[in-house]
Amino acid sequence: MYFPFLAEAPEFSAVALDALRQPLESGQLTIARASGSARFPARFQLVLAANPCPCGNAETPGVECTCTPMAKRRYLSRLSGPLLDRVDIQLTVRRITAAQLRLGASGGTASTADARERVLQARARAERRFAQTPWRLNAHVAGTWLRSPEGRPVRGSTEALDRALERGALTMRGYDRVLRIAWTLADLDGIDRPGVDQLGRALMLRRVRS
Ligand SMILES: [Zn+2]
Repeated sequence: MYFPFLAEAPEFSAVALDALRQPLESGQLTIARASGSARFPARFQLVLAANPCPCGNAETPGVECTCTPMAKRRYLSRLSGPLLDRVDIQLTVRRITAAQLRLGASGGTASTADARERVLQARARAERRFAQTPWRLNAHVAGTWLRSPEGRPVRGSTEALDRALERGALTMRGYDRVLRIAWTLADLDGIDRPGVDQLGRALMLRRVRS
């Protein structure tokens, strides 16, 4: 598995960014030339980072942003809706203040070793669940599985998710992606099936208000 990290993602050309859509969706890359086309495996975990504006100060209290509204819009519009629709987790990270820096790493954060152990256990849980299937990870399961008796979340737990779909805050693709994240949260929590709690957190990780 590869983990490409695109820092300052809006600085990449729109063409380059949109070319990521197909492999993100299918895990394959098709290159077509006059002489024919070839398909290559292309499963990767993409990480994109972007500033809130070209100068980077838009969201920082007490610091002046020098960007025009147009420059700001142009910068963020490079990350197109269809590309972001394929990004499962979307988080806003605030700039760290001097006071936070003095306090050191926030209390409650587990060590890397603890986090690793939790991830390994979650992966083993998913692997056991998918033993008789072509999949190994929640990210890979088909939409049909998510609606099957084995893949469905706890009965009645998808209300907020259904509402988000109805009011257009989520696409159908986004809906399935939230379900896959909820499965991963259930695996991390060590439970058999995602419920209201996992679905609520999965929606939050996608910045959809329930
Ligand atoms: Zn700015």
